[in-house]
Amino acid sequence: MSSLIHPDRLLPADPSVRAVARRLYAEVEALPIVSPHGHTDPRWYAFNENFPDPARLFVVPDHYVFRMLYSQGIPLEKLGVPRADGGATEQDGRAIWRLFAANYHLFRGTPTRAWLDHAFATLFGLEERLSERNADAAYDLIAEKLQQEAFKPRALFERFNIEVIATTESPLDDLSAHAEIRASGWGGRVVTAYRPDPVVDPEFEGFAANLARFGEITGEDTFSWSGYLAAHRKRRAFFKTFGATSSDHGHPTAATFDLPPHEAEALFRRVTGNAPVSAQDAELFRGQMLTEMAGMSLEDGLVMQIHPGAVRNHNGQIFARFGRDKGADIPSPTEYVRALKPLLDRFGNEAGLTIILFTLDETSYARELAPLAGHYPALRLGPAWWFHDSPEGMKRFRAMTTETAGFYNTVGFNDDTRAFPSIPARHDVARRIDCGFLAELVCEHRLDEDEAVEVARDLAYGLAKKAYKL
Ligand SMILES: [Zn+2]
Repeated sequence: MSSLIHPDRLLPADPSVRAVARRLYAEVEALPIVSPHGHTDPRWYAFNENFPDPARLFVVPDHYVFRMLYSQGIPLEKLGVPRADGGATEQDGRAIWRLFAANYHLFRGTPTRAWLDHAFATLFGLEERLSERNADAAYDLIAEKLQQEAFKPRALFERFNIEVIATTESPLDDLSAHAEIRASGWGGRVVTAYRPDPVVDPEFEGFAANLARFGEITGEDTFSWSGYLAAHRKRRAFFKTFGATSSDHGHPTAATFDLPPHEAEALFRRVTGNAPVSAQDAELFRGQMLTEMAGMSLEDGLVMQIHPGAVRNHNGQIFARFGRDKGADIPSPTEYVRALKPLLDRFGNEAGLTIILFTLDETSYARELAPLAGHYPALRLGPAWWFHDSPEGMKRFRAMTTETAGFYNTVGFNDDTRAFPSIPARHDVARRIDCGFLAELVCEHRLDEDEAVEVARDLAYGLAKKAYKL
């Protein structure tokens, strides 16, 4: 193992606790990766082409990386991030890499640094911390390896020991990449997930055009309420034929509503009419659709994930220049108890329904989310997410939820990533932190070690498979 990553990294510093944590980690270290929610590109697995160069693997597509560099005044153009208007950006992978390497110190203390070092060490055998001085040597070494057969997406998928991975697609996606994967005969298990935001959120860019396209694809009249709902049912069934076991909903808040049918229909007419949609109606419609989708989940078995609380595209200039998902989404306080009540009044007692809740607002964990998930049979808690997908975020998650919701109302780990090489690193961080947390409980005689072993295995593997029906 390279000197870039320490074998005891992230384990508790106290020697007696560390000894227990090491034993627990040894039980889970090599378990297969179950990745039930993420944003890798299915075309990678479909076409199995070599990743082009180190910059286009590690820098250009990773908003965790370029948002930090941007925050220190480095323009996204210089990092090769494509512009929405097709304008000029840096195309030389080596130039992008040099800029990244010269600024590697910016990532000190961040999970990004840990993920990158893990990939550099375990995949490419780098032994030295990346810096301006060794940037070219690291680039050459990684670039040379990326051209090899063993570094193509499918080979890496197998090397990462991925048992199953879910990608996330819009209902407007034809899933041709997934069809290609199936047709190829390759054995890797890649499934899709139904992410209907583009046709559910009246404030999504191109909503009306998206609805028209939704109608063309499904043969339904998506400008009538019943046709629109029928289109969702059809598309969900189509996604299931490509392995989907879940839907995913990225809403600004956790608001849900359960309007009488005639009011829901009138609301639908307002948000699809020619008049501008009020912010209030947009929120009402998104919230109504969460309840509609929960009803569909009860029918077709798709597990529902709710990812609320991100104020998307906070930086208007970056959005105009580069589009969505450019590191400018910012968390905002999120209320769940009253917001989810309409949906829970209708479906919360259904043990056959699984709704997985995520948060970017950690103040809700102990006060709202753990009590909700520790009561309603339909609810589970998703893992520490996005800005909290970090060692400290995971510790806070366990500390604030376990005493009320236990471990078995949580669902294991989600890597939720677009950055392919970070997948093993992220799962490894979660396994280490959970083993550390369990080791503390063992050392305080709150849990027997044989139980801790069982929980560690469930958190690393079993719970994700069970909750997501994979
Ligand atoms: Zn996600």
